[in-house]
Amino acid sequence: MSFTLLNACSDDNEEDNNDTISQTLTEADKNALLFMLEEEKLARDTYQYLDDLWAINQFSNIKLSEQTHMNLVSNLLDYYNVEYNILPVGEFVNQELQNFYNQFVIDGQVNQSNALQIGATIEDLDIVDLESNLNATTNTSIIEVFENLQCGSRNHLRSFVSVIENSGETYTPQFLTQQEYNLIINSNHEQCN
Ligand code: ZN
Ligand code: ZN
Repeated sequence: MSFTLLNACSDDNEEDNNDTISQTLTEADKNALLFMLEEEKLARDTYQYLDDLWAINQFSNIKLSEQTHMNLVSNLLDYYNVEYNILPVGEFVNQELQNFYNQFVIDGQVNQSNALQIGATIEDLDIVDLESNLNATTNTSIIEVFENLQCGSRNHLRSFVSVIENSGETYTPQFLTQQEYNLIINSNHEQCN
């Protein structure tokens, strides 16, 4: 990520008009970054909670990846001098994300099966929200970061779904279409940036 920021920095001179235009942060871009920062936090905080409850490797591994995802977004916010506030674990500015977290805490303590369904649900949601934010921006730095996050989310989804299926259960996509979901699940683990 630091490599990208350095690149963006060194390219950002007056002669390079196209690049300067593409790197303009619109109000919508700013809101997208702030929202995705908290959605990555939703993933991190939920996996932290579930990792404390259940001995499932996925939660301890993937929560670290979500911290990295948060850092990638906050690096961009820092770069653009946008103020943001990362609330304590389990607390969110966005009420919709807060409601998700509260429900995950209730459902996730019932059993491991529920906990894994929550993992898949979070990745399912994350991929779809990243997709709509990707479609709404022309900022190449944001596109690069969101595509990287989306790549990670596809791997996380594959990981949760494989554990679910190995235990004889299934996951039904709630945000992705069945077709989009099948495409991800039937393809291999990806190497993300
Ligand atoms: Zn993530
Ligand atoms: Zn994830």
